[in-house]
Amino acid sequence: MLGQKNAIPTSEPCDSRLSFGMLLFIAGATASKVKSLVPGHRRGKIRTAACTSKSDEPGFLEDEEANEALRKKLLSWYEREHRDLPWRATPFSGKVDVDEGAAGSPYAVWVSEIMLQQTQVATVVPYFERWMKEFPTLVSLSRAEEDRINELWAGLGYYRRARMLHQGAKLVVEKHGGTIPQDTVDLLKIPGIGPYTAGAIASIAFRKAEPLVDGNVARVFSRLLSIDEEPSNKVFWVAARRALDGNNPGDFNQALMELGSTVCTPKVPSCAQCPLRLECKSRNAALERGLDIEDYVTKFPRKPKKTKQQEQAVAVCVVENDGHLLMLKRPKTGLLPGLWEFPSVEVDCDDDKNDANRIRRKLRTLGLALPKTRTLQCVGSVGHIFTHIRQTLRIYKLEGAPTNEIDSRIEHRWTREDEVEGTAISAQMKKVFEKSKSLSKPDDGLMDKFVTKRKRKRD
Ligand code: SF4
Repeated sequence: MLGQKNAIPTSEPCDSRLSFGMLLFIAGATASKVKSLVPGHRRGKIRTAACTSKSDEPGFLEDEEANEALRKKLLSWYEREHRDLPWRATPFSGKVDVDEGAAGSPYAVWVSEIMLQQTQVATVVPYFERWMKEFPTLVSLSRAEEDRINELWAGLGYYRRARMLHQGAKLVVEKHGGTIPQDTVDLLKIPGIGPYTAGAIASIAFRKAEPLVDGNVARVFSRLLSIDEEPSNKVFWVAARRALDGNNPGDFNQALMELGSTVCTPKVPSCAQCPLRLECKSRNAALERGLDIEDYVTKFPRKPKKTKQQEQAVAVCVVENDGHLLMLKRPKTGLLPGLWEFPSVEVDCDDDKNDANRIRRKLRTLGLALPKTRTLQCVGSVGHIFTHIRQTLRIYKLEGAPTNEIDSRIEHRWTREDEVEGTAISAQMKKVFEKSKSLSKPDDGLMDKFVTKRKRKRD
């Protein structure tokens, strides 16, 4: 399978200005052989030995033989070094396993690729195993209760992924009779499946000659070809398609991702162990200039502009009654839809003395009226970062809560303390729960004292 001719697919998801004929992939050559071939490419701050042409293009090599040699090196390395993962079929087995739930099956690849977005492999493994045990087939997933989906996803973050996966399973059952389509055009019509996931399912599960680009792949190409662009730039799709091994696309794509994940890592790449080190243009440029290799190559790819994070303060009240904690269900839309949480209310970022009033008001809207003499105990605070929000959760505890009836229109439940972990709650509510257990000395927790302490600290 190694070293065979690459088939150039006919479909092209990239910028129409970019011609395939002009995009030939780099391989085993020195920087002097580099020829720039991508028109309309924006110049970057980093100028490398490979990108000094007056042409407005980064370098690719017109050397298909060398291109083949590079594929062979990468695949040989992958065969030796790949990690065994529960969703991954044995590399080079060459078979398409349609047995649902089996490693390498379309369903297993789909679930794993969705879980792996923005999430580390080590984190995903136990979630994936639990998921496949509970929903071994796509049909079983399509019939699942939303609450159970959230419970199994709880702590993995980016909950929209779980909702989309669920909706996608339903659509495949309705429109495709429960069989995941092989064509990327059809795959892209399924909720939650974008170009990356479509490429992964098509190439890994169905052995279709489809490329994929995730953060790992973009980083490898950016360094290998000295492309000074942000990872989202379409030029990486062009490179991925041109580089693809048409005879073994699934293993080739996985090898690229594995290289980015284990060798060509964001901060500490192991260039000395890299199977592509001799061909790597950024490494060669560093060597030619006598620069520190790691320091230089980690300038690639260009860092995306940081979006400003919004600061948000939330007062959370852990309400306890006879060993049970009050939990409310979040709305079906917005942040963390459908997950359970302790009663919470957004408060002013730098005015925590109103926390008690806001919490009392919130509890009143639920039907829990607190006598003024009841003091909320302060536990402390925890931080949590979403993509665009930096949240500070200030935690209060109310023990022995009054037993007023909670308004039945509000979706709520009293959860036994030892069952909270298994409930569909978000990662930040897990932190709140852990912190709330740390309250041991009631005196320390008096609200007024907490406010005074925080104020003094700020002063
Ligand atoms: S040589 Fe270094 S920078 Fe180049 S691809 Fe390999 S690990 Fe990445």
